[in-house]
Amino acid sequence: MLTQVSQLVIGGVDLCAAFLFMFGLKRMSSPATALSGIRVAGLGMIAAVAASFLYLLTVGDAARPHMMMNIGLAIGALLIGGLGAWYVGRKVALTAMPQMVAIYNGMGGGAAGAIAAVELFGSRTQGITQLVVTVLGGLIGAISLSGSLVAWAKLDGVLTKPFRVKGQQFANAVVMMASIAVAGVIVASSMGAVGQLFATATWIWIFFACTLLFGVLMTLPIGGADMPVVISIYNAFTGLAVGLEGFVLQNPALMIAGMVVGAAGLLLTVIMAKAMNRSIANVLFTNFGTLAKAKPGAIQGTEKPTEASDAAIKMRYASSVIIVPGYGLAAAHAQQKLYEFVKLLLTAKVSVKFAIHPVAGRMPGQMDVLLAEAGVPYDMIFQLDDINDDFATTDVALIIGANDVVNPAARTDKSSPIFGMPILNADQAKQVFVIKRGQGKGYSGIVNSLFYLPNCNMVYGDAQAVLVKMIEAVRGLGAAAA
Ligand code: NAP
Repeated sequence: MLTQVSQLVIGGVDLCAAFLFMFGLKRMSSPATALSGIRVAGLGMIAAVAASFLYLLTVGDAARPHMMMNIGLAIGALLIGGLGAWYVGRKVALTAMPQMVAIYNGMGGGAAGAIAAVELFGSRTQGITQLVVTVLGGLIGAISLSGSLVAWAKLDGVLTKPFRVKGQQFANAVVMMASIAVAGVIVASSMGAVGQLFATATWIWIFFACTLLFGVLMTLPIGGADMPVVISIYNAFTGLAVGLEGFVLQNPALMIAGMVVGAAGLLLTVIMAKAMNRSIANVLFTNFGTLAKAKPGAIQGTEKPTEASDAAIKMRYASSVIIVPGYGLAAAHAQQKLYEFVKLLLTAKVSVKFAIHPVAGRMPGQMDVLLAEAGVPYDMIFQLDDINDDFATTDVALIIGANDVVNPAARTDKSSPIFGMPILNADQAKQVFVIKRGQGKGYSGIVNSLFYLPNCNMVYGDAQAVLVKMIEAVRGLGAAAA
């Protein structure tokens, strides 16, 4: 009776956790509700952890001697993980978020791999289905762990160049096949179906060595510019691995959380690949991320500098301005100053809109988050498809620390590594101002022909310093008029 009641309670708490995960995720789909979505999903996580503790408290007699030790270990792990994540989460700069996501994602994959290892080494898994699912979860989790760590190293600048050698794809295929073959041996030998060359434990070590190696080899050749898509793929992998191990442990909250993460990661991967006009296979198996060299002489004209004050006054007397934020805005922490400047333009009855490219910055949604943080109303923020036609009828496009996402080479230059990527049509505005520090290239390492167009002027300087000057210039006009 007690067992039935406890099972009912655990099932109910798991169901609550699943509902909170999905409801939280739904709320995360809009910047207006994203913060509450994160809190709701966090509550779901607390519910899932509570269900796991309830499960530990109600284990059968056989496991009871270890119960207190397991609970102690679980609390210790929660404290170390929770406090570490809380500290890092508070300290991390917004520009370093992709690295943090990569590391956390890797840890999720590692956790799934660790569950598989415990199950396999302890010979706890019974039956062919459970064994196959355990091994599959371990394979995907281990690939996600080592691949995410390489992605972190690339994003953090620890690894600066893609590592490519001849025959690399063949070597990768061999390691992958070896991983699958060893997985097959583990399943067969655990079922007692084959005689063994080595003890099963040795095969398990070989299996994890191969899968971890595959994650490293698969990620090393991919260039830095493709890392967001790669992290998103690993995110999907981690979710899938966690879901599979949830099945092995018969833990519904783990299964649902894993599948939700896996599906969200897969959708994000597809959306990002589409935004870059690439297929997922193209991201994984071609060399887009290599820093491309600008073709000498391919671009005519010169960059034309202008003063921040002149650009600001021109915008003050324009009737419409579209602002394109990019990575440089985040790097300069200039979002507050930008909104201060925008409020001055709005007071002067200028129509102002923000245009967001899906891969602007260094992680999906980074620009939305920055603008939300500065207090920019959501109805001023437009995504690429909703605003691109407006540039042609706009007086001024103000580009702040953006480069690749407004590079017309994506439309015209077939040899460009970003050819085919949808871009914001900033070049079609009557006047374009670009705030950047100097001649720095965009993330893909190519020269931007927009900066050389007759309707474009460069406002050189750190975005925050330039915006301070712009604010002073517009305020100065008001003071002079009074
Ligand atoms: P971008 O192409 O990387 O260009 C950023 C520009 O900002 C640079 O040209 C730089 O020029 C300027 N800049 C840097 N610091 C600045 C500062 N303090 N003040 C003013 N300007 C500054 O950026 P983007 O147009 O946003 O494009 C994003 C690129 O990153 C795409 O290629 C995308 O594929 C890739 N990517 C995207 C993600 C994602 O998920 N969103 C993740 C990783 C990579 P100066 O040095 O001359 O100042």
